[in-house]
Amino acid sequence: MTVTTSLRDRFAGSVVVPGDPGYDDARRVYNFMIDKFPAAIVQATSTADVQDAVRQARAAGRDLAVRGGGHSVPGFGTGDDAIVVDLAAINHVRVDAENRTARVGGGATWATFNEKAAEYGLATTGGVVSSTGVGGLTLGGGIGYLARAHGLSLDNVLSAEVVLADGSVVTASETEHPDLFWALRGGGGNFGIVTVFEFRLPPASEILAGLLFFELADAPEILRYFRSFIADAPREYGGFPAFQKAPPLPFIPEDRVDDTFLVVVSCWNGDHEAGERIMQGFRDVAQPAAEMVAPMPYAVLNGLFDGLLPRGLQHYWKAVYATDLTDEAIAVHLEHGSKVPIVNSTVHLYPINGAVQDVPSDATAFGHRDAAWAVVLAGMWPDPADNEANIKWVKDYYADLAPHSAPGGYINFASGDDQSKVRDNFGVSYDRLAEIKRRYDPDNLFHLNQNIAPAAE
Ligand SMILES: Cc1cc2nc3c(=O)[nH]c(=O)nc-3n(C[C@H](O)[C@H](O)[C@H](O)COP(=O)(O)OP(=O)(O)OC[C@H]3O[C@@H](n4cnc5c(N)ncnc54)[C@H](O)[C@@H]3O)c2cc1C
Repeated sequence: MTVTTSLRDRFAGSVVVPGDPGYDDARRVYNFMIDKFPAAIVQATSTADVQDAVRQARAAGRDLAVRGGGHSVPGFGTGDDAIVVDLAAINHVRVDAENRTARVGGGATWATFNEKAAEYGLATTGGVVSSTGVGGLTLGGGIGYLARAHGLSLDNVLSAEVVLADGSVVTASETEHPDLFWALRGGGGNFGIVTVFEFRLPPASEILAGLLFFELADAPEILRYFRSFIADAPREYGGFPAFQKAPPLPFIPEDRVDDTFLVVVSCWNGDHEAGERIMQGFRDVAQPAAEMVAPMPYAVLNGLFDGLLPRGLQHYWKAVYATDLTDEAIAVHLEHGSKVPIVNSTVHLYPINGAVQDVPSDATAFGHRDAAWAVVLAGMWPDPADNEANIKWVKDYYADLAPHSAPGGYINFASGDDQSKVRDNFGVSYDRLAEIKRRYDPDNLFHLNQNIAPAAE
């Protein structure tokens, strides 16, 4: 019996194989630069399906790719000749409003999670694009608007149901398999397949959102202001400076569309008058060329960039940590950020201080609590003919930023050609992670990720 017929016999969900009508769509991930041909895509609908897929991949000696939201830029959610476990149908969100918690399927996206939580005026730290998966984003860290107030996404995980490399299922929490629970929170997909996350849900409903577009000539002053403002900004503030070409939005003057700006993207989850004063602080430094400041539901802010980032673009990214945004680093940002090639591409300078740094550095496997900034150089463009020029922009920017960066970069922003940097990317947690990897996945079944090799015996 072939692996695909035996898979088909067993699964409640569908199994898509080469030659099936849906194969070409099912094999693709969000980044269309990735063009892989798996042996089968198992569209799991339950934990039992996931267990079966793990056992079958092992028995067949195939690579196992795990796909949550499919947003991994290196395309870890697929692989040539691999068995892909696609978790997209395991996307339930069950909110316990009284206890302010939610049980969330391992294949849910932030769109589904945010929408459901919003019904109760709740939200947890998630990413800034709603189509991203809860699974990959949380296991690697989880940087977003609420991080300064509530920590990373992973800081809000209370427990996880996990399918391990031998196909068994366990719950990981502070009291059950605490070593696994530690490793899951920052170790990425290295330790098992999370079928259910249990999250803490702080309140967040109507926030004040701000997009302030500043002229590049004002960018150095705005960045210096942001640097000192954010060092002890109120925790209600979550936001970041970005280099961005102006999209054709109603508040952008027509003759400025496609011009490059330094945009201050802000989320204020508190009293709106106080939030207005924060926005005014930026305007007092320089007059924005265009702006949109408005109250809106938190979930709407989380979808604000979605239109620029449909599935199917080409992606090449680099990840940078920095403990400070020095004047020298600002000069490099100016030089390269001003050359952002296309409206889809962007550079985000995420501050990761506040509540992220309240958590002791050994409390979870996230290994860079000492970095105050996580920068993503995100090359994103539609036409493969432009690959060379866009990749060059990212690489040149990254090379010039290196002298002003800390070692390593956020694993969720790192690119596929960064495997040599994995030790630095996991930072202070690497050795302990490798030890726990040996305990839970000694054969490295879960290796299509920013991979941690099991420690030697
Ligand atoms: C447009 C865009 C915007 C982004 N914005 C942010 C942001 O604001 N903040 C941020 O922190 N990051 C952001 N990211 C980065 C994001 O965190 C990573 O791309 C992350 O890997 C996406 O998770 P996913 O589940 O969608 O990806 P996938 O490609 O499905 O998975 C990524 C990795 O996680 C593993 N994985 C996924 N789900 C599970 C699971 N349930 N159990 C076990 N392993 C699993 C996979 O095997 C793979 O190794 C963004 C990425 C994109 C493309």
